[in-house]
Amino acid sequence: MKIYKFGGASVRNPEGIQNLAHIISLCETEPLVVVVSAMGKTTNALERVLAALMAHDRVEAAREWNDIIAYHDAILASLGLPPETLPYRALPALQDEHNYDLSYDQLVSLGELTSTAIIDAYLRSQGFDSCLLDMTRLLRTDATYRDANVDLDTSAGLLCEAVRHAGHRICIAQGFIGGTVDGLRTTLGREGSDYTAALIGNFLNADSVTIWKDVPGILNADPRLVKDTVLIPELRYHDAVELSYSGAQIIHPKTIRPLENKRIPLYVKPFGDPTAAGSKIHADAAGPINVPVYIWRKNQVLITIRPKDFSFVLEQSLNQLFEIIHRHRLKVSLIQSSAVTISVSVDHTRYVDDALRELSQQFRLNYNEGLSLLTIRGTTPEILHRESANRQILLSQTTRRTARLLISE
Ligand code: ASP
Ligand code: MG
Repeated sequence: MKIYKFGGASVRNPEGIQNLAHIISLCETEPLVVVVSAMGKTTNALERVLAALMAHDRVEAAREWNDIIAYHDAILASLGLPPETLPYRALPALQDEHNYDLSYDQLVSLGELTSTAIIDAYLRSQGFDSCLLDMTRLLRTDATYRDANVDLDTSAGLLCEAVRHAGHRICIAQGFIGGTVDGLRTTLGREGSDYTAALIGNFLNADSVTIWKDVPGILNADPRLVKDTVLIPELRYHDAVELSYSGAQIIHPKTIRPLENKRIPLYVKPFGDPTAAGSKIHADAAGPINVPVYIWRKNQVLITIRPKDFSFVLEQSLNQLFEIIHRHRLKVSLIQSSAVTISVSVDHTRYVDDALRELSQQFRLNYNEGLSLLTIRGTTPEILHRESANRQILLSQTTRRTARLLISE
């Protein structure tokens, strides 16, 4: 049994879906679970529908929604599939206009439910022995909407049973989404489909998990930003965790643990060249990565707190700070403390403003928005010198061979 995961970019047009079918055909008789994201930029478009609905702008919501339907209809037509293949056509109502996160998950999950319905139908039309799984029923989560926590034991039982019972060679599963015991849909956080693939690999004791991407594998830098990138053929699990935590967009940070626990190798391969080796993440990788790796984490806010009086107690302030950060679901990318201040860099999400308001009640507060965090693993003094030149650096940290620069752009 193998697990394949295709992201939105790989299934954004009819050619991509035909290519998915081609890649699957290369596996011959091997059983597969194929995890798929929403097509192209559908998740972003659904977020815009939600924003319009929350703002009571039905006209704008309908316009965005109709674009999504037209986009999928065009794909259906090119693939020779009937319009009924599309599971949703009518603009849904808001689940609860006072609960953004709950409403988000009910609406945005439609992207994956639609993409998987289309891909399953296409594979069947091409003679593949395929079936569709419903992850809103099989991936049981709590009700932390937009960042749901998976009930591993229940989900493992449900999923193994469903795959066994289905009895088809290929099962198509939605990435990114799950459901509560009450039948409400949940999501696992943006880009969460990789995590779904890893969980399914873990539950089914798969031989391997492969993420098909529009890059040759894991590179030492983002090819959109850097000219001469090199492919990293092999990585240890914890190197992969470090890379994704630092902001490498290649795999979701939660992906590695479920695989490492069962020593299941993870391949990252180019979907345009399926027989290429790509990168392999596994327990027996030869050693540390031997080229410098550059990772950008964009859209950061640097928050610095100082006590309002002079009774600075580091532990106590840390506690208060992190309690607030955790409650507002901020994701911390860097921490630094001085004698009387603590600085943290967090992703700029919609929860930041509330957190800042609350922090300002307890602390004196400074913050800067619009920053980027550059992490350089395997750095040298020369590299650090070069990368620091001509940049406005608000904070820098170096530990052994890793440098982290918070840059104002
Ligand atoms: N469709 C979701 C997103 O765009 C999940 C994913 O792609 O992994 O965030
Ligand atoms: Mg995506």
